[in-house]
Amino acid sequence: RSGFVAIIGRPNVGKSTLLNRVIGQKIAIMSDKAQTTRNKIQGVYTTDDSQIVFIDTPGIHKPKHKLGDFMVESAYSALREVDAVLFMVSADQKRGPGDNFIIERLKKQSAPVFLVINKIDNVHPDDLLPMIEDYREQMDFAEIVPISATEGNNIENLLEVLTGYL
Ligand code: GDP
Ligand code: MG
Repeated sequence: RSGFVAIIGRPNVGKSTLLNRVIGQKIAIMSDKAQTTRNKIQGVYTTDDSQIVFIDTPGIHKPKHKLGDFMVESAYSALREVDAVLFMVSADQKRGPGDNFIIERLKKQSAPVFLVINKIDNVHPDDLLPMIEDYREQMDFAEIVPISATEGNNIENLLEVLTGYL
């Protein structure tokens, strides 16, 4: 099983921390094909029977100033090329305009979207459930996976669930 997975979310939610934790070696054969102007390989997760190429999708984040139609369309196109999207949020931050901006765009594309709630080590378990409920009302996520990228909690499960969709 293999595929391209975009990882998106507001700054500081822990995207780089997660990638640093899961990424193994780069695969030269795939990089030629994948490294387009619209997406940038951030790393490749490889096991004996699976390979996940994590890519960045520039332009999907809430713009600081108005983007032209071309750039917005470019971000949409990048999302159309991926097999799954990881939308990462932080358990210790309420859903905000930056998250809503991303959610509105994620509703318009077809690949499965996983909500990854990171930093669960920072919150009381009782606070996690209302957050899951809140996000569930916003859109239809393929799966909702709480993790801690720094502690390593539930990362194996995330990769397993993700691989199951590829
Ligand atoms: P990015 O901007 O989304 O790439 O976020 P980073 O990976 O750079 O992380 C931003 C900050 O959040 C850093 O200080 C990380 O150490 C911290 N961080 C990331 N994951 C976790 C986590 O699971 N728990 C806690 N407590 N902090 C985290
Ligand atoms: Mg980062």
